[in-house]
Amino acid sequence: MSGLSEAHARRICAEADRRFDAELEFIKDLVRFPSLREHERAAQDFMAEAFRARGLEVDRWKIDVEALKRHPGASPVASPYAEAYNVVGTYRAERNDGRSLILNGHIDVVPAGPVHRWCSPPFEPQVRGGRLYGRGAGDMKAGIGAMLFAYDAVRSAGLAPRGRIHLQSVVEEECTGNGAFACLLRGYTADAAIIPEPVGEELTRANMGLLWLKITVPGDPAHASGAYSAGVNAIERGWLIWQRLKALEARWNEERGEHPHYCDHAHPVRINLGRMQGGEWVSSVPAECVLEVRAGLYPEWSVERGKAEIEQAIAEACALDPALPPAAVEYHGFHNGGYILAPGGDAEAALGAAHKRVCGEPLKACASTASTDSRILGVFGSIPSLVYGPACTGAHGIDEYVDIESVRRVTKTIALFIADWCGVAET
Ligand SMILES: [Zn+2]
Repeated sequence: MSGLSEAHARRICAEADRRFDAELEFIKDLVRFPSLREHERAAQDFMAEAFRARGLEVDRWKIDVEALKRHPGASPVASPYAEAYNVVGTYRAERNDGRSLILNGHIDVVPAGPVHRWCSPPFEPQVRGGRLYGRGAGDMKAGIGAMLFAYDAVRSAGLAPRGRIHLQSVVEEECTGNGAFACLLRGYTADAAIIPEPVGEELTRANMGLLWLKITVPGDPAHASGAYSAGVNAIERGWLIWQRLKALEARWNEERGEHPHYCDHAHPVRINLGRMQGGEWVSSVPAECVLEVRAGLYPEWSVERGKAEIEQAIAEACALDPALPPAAVEYHGFHNGGYILAPGGDAEAALGAAHKRVCGEPLKACASTASTDSRILGVFGSIPSLVYGPACTGAHGIDEYVDIESVRRVTKTIALFIADWCGVAET
């Protein structure tokens, strides 16, 4: 049962409403930063300034690659980290007798794809029909705005949380999770965490594990005429590997009945061919082809189990051309198991009470076929991690948008959660 009084809840929601236009402007400002991998720094500086303006203690640091490499739970670092800065804003409670909280969001976004297919430029946010459009609008700059303005709503309602709060803006969520991992290695912990990823105002009960792999396939280059030898086409060989991985995906999906969180899902496992590159010259049989693949894993599985089955499928395809060397497999990003939020915790109860107050309905739980930073905080930090955020359409696609009223409700829900979870004192 929530310990938050009706009067306090009303005051907090009224403040969230009063500040909502400013919140929307803040989210639009965030969308204007094309915070793609290796270009997150300016957006992170903007976040640091936003934390500073609120009187929060600001910690901005470059991710320590060596520290990550020493931790077996971190993912491989395969891309430059020169611009990989994390930012944390910390509120320290005067009466530090309440529960502590982490509010975590990722600042990185994925590429926009063919810009000419967007109705409006991806990094020029536009409001149309109650929706905010732009790359990252939903995934997850609206979530970052919601958590920050949720904190604001509590403070401007004349209330001081009684527990410590860390507002974290991290990088690397879209490729490794190493940004959230770096927060953990820096010592940030709390009694609970909320990650406002765009999950349609439901609580994420389970997240998939995830692997990224790069498969380099050798061919036997030759003149395309076949005048000297027919050669072996590396792209075609790569395509055979991909067929095997699609068959593996089908087999894993057939096993979904054994996984209680995914048994009702039509297609929980996705193995995605995200990039394929190969060939050197139109009139040459390709010497090399590189496939980059993302594979979801059931959360009950170990990473090793997933890797073993994937590598076997690749080896079987390569064995069709025994005269050639097999493909080389490299793990160059996500390398992690999934996360299941144990039901019935205090944080879940508090979120459920806040959600019901704002939305009038019980909080529903869902199982996500994606992976989020909840596994980092939940598995390696032992912090109950609640993924709960607004409704979004087109994440990682064309014309991504977030539903604006959904952002308002989520902001209020998180604000009520903060007040209930940490406790509040009148200021
Ligand atoms: Zn996300």
